Amino acid sequence: MQIKTANRENFTAKQRKLSDIAYLVLHYTGNRGDTAKNNADYFAREVTGTSAHYFVDENEVWQSVPDGHAAWHCGTKGAYYHPACRNANSIGVEVCMLDKHGKLRQGSVDRAAALVRELMQRYSIPPDRVVRHYDVTHKDCPAPMVQNPALWREFQAKLTQEDDEMKYYEKLTDIPAGELRDTVQLLIDRKAIAGNGSGLHLTARLLIK
Ligand SMILES: [Zn+2]
Repeated sequence: MQIKTANRENFTAKQRKLSDIAYLVLHYTGNRGDTAKNNADYFAREVTGTSAHYFVDENEVWQSVPDGHAAWHCGTKGAYYHPACRNANSIGVEVCMLDKHGKLRQGSVDRAAALVRELMQRYSIPPDRVVRHYDVTHKDCPAPMVQNPALWREFQAKLTQEDDEMKYYEKLTDIPAGELRDTVQLLIDRKAIAGNGSGLHLTARLLIK
């Protein structure tokens, strides 16, 4: 995880207790083909009056606002549709969810699920307290998961899967040495898997025989 703290005018200066954190809110940046770093840089540079704790793409997580401060990611001047989730008691996770054609970036979604699982564990947050921005204010965010609720249910399912299923092998050398790695090497050599052994994004379901 990389850290680049947002401009101090973009989040609440006063610290909160970590025990206040009770909800995790999922967002999408709405941009196409952006990176977590792009966003961290932007919110560090500009005074936007908005912020989020984390930005996630398929390769990296950037922390922009420390967990001990409220970020401004799910507030509204209008009505709240969630009885309790607010900026003050939540962590905002922004996902770089769209490729340059506007299609879903599954790698970003998977990495976000892994981050959310970590945060659930760290702050003892149950799955039903992981919500979409939409669930708090009815904003169309994250749009792919509002327009297609099946995608949201898929994301929710990832939060409770057995640990092993959530591991990803990005590089050939991430795979435990042995028969399995040899098999993947063979598939790469035979061009059955594109690329050269980096950026594989294979799940640990490989291990299930
Ligand atoms: Zn949002």
